[in-house]
Amino acid sequence: MHTLVGFGTRHTLSDTLSPTRGIGAARRWIKSELDAISGTCGGCLEVSYQHAMIAGEPRVPDSTWVVSVVAVLRGATDPDRYVIMTGDIDSRVSDIMNTVDSSPGANDNASGMAGVLEAARVITASGHRFPASIAFAGLAGEEQGLYGGERMAEIARADGWRIEAVLNNDMIGNIEGVDGVIDNSTARVFSESPPAGTTEAELRRMRFFGGEVDGPSRQLARYVDRIADDYLRNLDVRMIYRLDRFGRGGHHRPFNDAGFPAVRIMETHENYTRQHQDVRIEEGIPFGDVIEGVDFDYAATLTALNVAALASLAWAPAPPDSVAIAGAVEPAARLSWTPSAGAAGYKVYWRETTSPTWDRWIWAGTATEATMTGLVVDNGFFGVAAVSPDGNESPVTFPMPAR
Ligand SMILES: [Zn+2]
Repeated sequence: MHTLVGFGTRHTLSDTLSPTRGIGAARRWIKSELDAISGTCGGCLEVSYQHAMIAGEPRVPDSTWVVSVVAVLRGATDPDRYVIMTGDIDSRVSDIMNTVDSSPGANDNASGMAGVLEAARVITASGHRFPASIAFAGLAGEEQGLYGGERMAEIARADGWRIEAVLNNDMIGNIEGVDGVIDNSTARVFSESPPAGTTEAELRRMRFFGGEVDGPSRQLARYVDRIADDYLRNLDVRMIYRLDRFGRGGHHRPFNDAGFPAVRIMETHENYTRQHQDVRIEEGIPFGDVIEGVDFDYAATLTALNVAALASLAWAPAPPDSVAIAGAVEPAARLSWTPSAGAAGYKVYWRETTSPTWDRWIWAGTATEATMTGLVVDNGFFGVAAVSPDGNESPVTFPMPAR
């Protein structure tokens, strides 16, 4: 984080040639860090730049290369399946077009970017290798219009990546809220549901069969919530049932737009005097996104949440591709699903329709169907997760009736 802040500004339109200041120096340093991490694991990471040429946009009027950095720890048996952690390279101050003034962007979003580098270091150093690929991404051009994420999602689609999860980390280090609350023991996970691109016909089916609060990104949010409960002693996830903060944006959205499950992980209490502000003092109040505003222990905790979620997801089988549900005017809900490669068995979950979390489950073993004796389909929501031999679970797939 100190090094990132040390580049003075990481504005998308800032200097690209200086070795010490501006967005060019920042992205080259991130690349060199990931290359160095790769060097300590026998070249286990595939590190590359992703370029997008942007021009004629309100916040990028002149031709500008928006350059992200991506490192992939290639999956051993299912390399086209991806779980991804993202942070952002760029920063801004009060004027979105100010490319020269000091723009430390310590919390927004050197915190998320440093988290990505640390997660890459920890996961590769563990020596573990995974069935699925894990990608670590520093995305560029966030503040100017989510360009880096847009480009990465486009490349993923073109190259046939099966993205199972994007964990977008954007501001993971502030614990002193503008609301006066100081809190280092909760985090927010934002998720949309229904997914972008849901058709009229699908919405109509949801009216009759459910799914309004059970899109794939929402299942990913529940997954991260469970990981916090299972692995982090002093962190509770507060799931927020919306794409992002009210009217605001982040780099998970372009992945959602492209049809991939993606969530935003961030602090619970934001501090707007330290966000998108010129560094200054006004009427005794310090403004600016300076490093003193970042709580490093808290950022490390949220990074650990990512590491546990990435490893669990990448070890687990893929979620069942499709799950069918039936049981209207019958005494028991009935589910059936497509098998997932590498699954040792399946868990059938259910919950009250008003509950945010998958509270109860049965072990179905290697069966690909289950009759939920005693549970009438009307009264709960159901879902199926695939489980690996060592107990790592996929996210839950929400069922619809077979057509
Ligand atoms: Zn921002």
